[in-house]
Amino acid sequence: MGYIDPHIHMISRTTDDYERLALAGCVALTEPAFWAGFDRSSAQGFYDYFRCLTEFEPKRASQYGIDHYTWLCINPKEADDLGLAREVLQIIPEFLSSPNVLGIGEIGLNKNTKNELLIFEEHLELASKHNQPILVHTPHLEDKKKGTRLILDAIQAHNIPPHRVLIDHVEEHTVEMVLEKGFWAGMTLYPETKCTPQRAVDILEMYGKERLCMNSAGDWGPSDPLAVPKAILEMRRRGHSKMDIQKVTLQNPLAFLGQSPHFQTEKILEESAE
Ligand SMILES: [Zn+2]
Repeated sequence: MGYIDPHIHMISRTTDDYERLALAGCVALTEPAFWAGFDRSSAQGFYDYFRCLTEFEPKRASQYGIDHYTWLCINPKEADDLGLAREVLQIIPEFLSSPNVLGIGEIGLNKNTKNELLIFEEHLELASKHNQPILVHTPHLEDKKKGTRLILDAIQAHNIPPHRVLIDHVEEHTVEMVLEKGFWAGMTLYPETKCTPQRAVDILEMYGKERLCMNSAGDWGPSDPLAVPKAILEMRRRGHSKMDIQKVTLQNPLAFLGQSPHFQTEKILEESAE
């Protein structure tokens, strides 16, 4: 049975990683726009990045039978420069019709600054205007709980229905408020720091499997593109049923991502059954 990785930054991974993902059963993945490991000097840098996400990565993924989708934005780390951020916001709409674009993301907060919040809200307006689902990053560096609360309040103030939003990087102290308000929640798994596969399975056991997903991040830092299969192994080891594993790693991502008309739910269901 196949699985979906709803948050993995393939631009920072090798082609061998696509092969490893395919061998581990990954049938589809979604790649949110993020910080590239360095600050880009102009909006043109983002234009080329969006071309990579909408043209190059889907081709690289398809060589391994993996469906590649993406989310577009200027990430919170670079959004602190208001001038640059607004230039990037202007170029996003022309990419929204690309067949693999699912919505706006990963937007959110990094250090919880005023400018980050301002640009976060401008992304919410863009998403509303174009009726796009949203993928949200919650901060690691500063107070995650405070940052998550600021994010949820801003989304509600913009009257965006919570089922259209997935809040990522949830941990033990933030998952409850995200689920309680009707949002989807994503656990971003890392080998040692932040949420490990073991901690993610603890969270599933505490909060249930409704509206919860798992992803591997697979970014520039120490991270593991096979973190989701490792969490699946941990679930098996603890005696979770095949149905429960499928719910978290396939059915839940399908239900959230399927809200975008670009997401080919039927095709992915067929591929995952092979
Ligand atoms: Zn990310």
